[in-house]
Amino acid sequence: MSLFRLLQALALIVVVALPAPARAVGLLRDAGMEHGLNQLARPIIAAAGLSPSRIQILVINDMSLNAFVTNGRAVFIHAGLILRLQSSEALQAVIAHEVAHIANGHYVRRSINAQNAQRNSLFGLAAGVAAGVASGNPALGAGIAQGTAGSALGVFLSHTRAEEAAADKSGLRYMARAGIPPEAMAEVFDLFAGQEALAPERQSAWARTHPVSRERARAAENFAAVLSPRTSDRTETEYWYQRARGKLSAYLRSPSYTLDRVGLSDMSDPARIQRAMAYFKMPDMSKARTEVAGLIEARPDDPYFHELLGWMEIESGNAERAIDAYREAVALAPRAPMILAGYGRSLLALNTPATDAEALTALETARSRDRNNQRLLRDLAVAYARTGNNGMASLSTAQRYEAMGRREDARLHAARAVDQLPVGSPGWSRAQDIMRATEPNRTRR
Ligand SMILES: [Zn+2]
Repeated sequence: MSLFRLLQALALIVVVALPAPARAVGLLRDAGMEHGLNQLARPIIAAAGLSPSRIQILVINDMSLNAFVTNGRAVFIHAGLILRLQSSEALQAVIAHEVAHIANGHYVRRSINAQNAQRNSLFGLAAGVAAGVASGNPALGAGIAQGTAGSALGVFLSHTRAEEAAADKSGLRYMARAGIPPEAMAEVFDLFAGQEALAPERQSAWARTHPVSRERARAAENFAAVLSPRTSDRTETEYWYQRARGKLSAYLRSPSYTLDRVGLSDMSDPARIQRAMAYFKMPDMSKARTEVAGLIEARPDDPYFHELLGWMEIESGNAERAIDAYREAVALAPRAPMILAGYGRSLLALNTPATDAEALTALETARSRDRNNQRLLRDLAVAYARTGNNGMASLSTAQRYEAMGRREDARLHAARAVDQLPVGSPGWSRAQDIMRATEPNRTRR
C-alpha cells in the first residue's frame, strides 16, 4: 500500500475511533508503577549503552497486546501485555526488544518518512493521535480496551521484518549482558504464536506491528542458545515486578477480583499494595489506610508508599491528608516529577494564595522533568491563572490541547498566550512554536 493510501486509511479509522476526550485512550501515569517498571528496564537500557534516566517506560491504558516506540525517549507498553505476560523475565524481554529498536535507530527511519509525509494533511491527524496517546491521563476506571486509536498508532509505527530480526538479536544480547535469561523471549513468542494464521483483523496489534513467524522465533532461539548470560540475583527485580504489575492489576480490575486473588493473609508489599488499591476502589478508605500504614511501617523510606497514600486521599477529596502524605513523599524523592505533580495538585485543592504559590513551584519543577503528563498541564494552567499569570495559563492549556491532538483548540489558546506574554520571552516563543505547528494550511499543499 502506498504511504498516502495507508495514511488515508489510518485517518479514517482514527476519525471514527477517537473517543470523547474525557475517556480518551491514553497513558496510565502512576509514580509507583513507573518506578517499578524502570527498575526492570534500567539494566537493559544500560546494557544497550543508553542512559536509563533518558528513557521512560510508559503504560498505555489498553487491554490489547502491544508495545512500541515512537522516538528515542520512551517505550510504550499496553497494560494488557503487562498483565498477560506471566514472568518478570518475559516483560524484560519485551522491554529489551523495544529498547533495541531505539538503540538501532529504527524510529529514526520512520521519522524521516514522517517528514516526507508532512505535506499530507492526513498525517497531521495521525501525528495528533500519536501525541495524544503519549500524553493522556485518564481518571480511575476510565475504561479498559478502548484501544482502537492506540492500535491504529501501533500499525502506523510498524517495523520491517529486517528490523524485527535485528531487534530480536540486540534485545537478546542486552538480556544476556544484564543477567536476564534470554530464553524468556520464548514466552513472548509463545503468546503471539499462531497469530499469523489469523485474519489480520483478529490478530493482536503487536502481531501486526511485530510480525512473529516460526522462522523468526527459531532464529531467536538459536541465537539465545549460543549466548552465555551473566548470572544474577533476581530477588530485587522480582520484587519490583510484583509491585508494578500488582498495582496495575488492582487499579484496572474489580476489588473483588483483586481480593479473591491476593487474599487477606499475605503481608508482602505487593499484596498490601493490591489490597490498598482494592479497598480504595470499593471505597473503604479506612481499610485502605491500614494497608498503606503497614507498608510505610515496613519501609518508611519508600517515597512511593507515601505517594500512594497521597494519591488515594486526593482522589477521595481529602486535600489536607493528601498534602501531608505528599510532603513526606517529596522529602524522600524531591526530584520525582509524578510525586511533585501530585503534591502540586493537592496544594491547589486548598485554594489559598499561599498554597497556590507553593503548588505553582512544584508543578513547574514537575513540568520541566516530565512532558508526558496531561493532568499536570491542566493543574499548571489553574496555578498560573490563580497566581495572576494568564499568559502562561493560556500557554499550558495550548500545550495540553496540542498533546491531545486538538490542533484548533491548541492554536486558539496559543494565540491568547502570544497576546498576553512579553514579546520574546521563553513562554511567548513556545506559544509561537505552537502557532506555527498548528497552522491550518501548513500540511496541505
Ligand atoms: Zn519490534
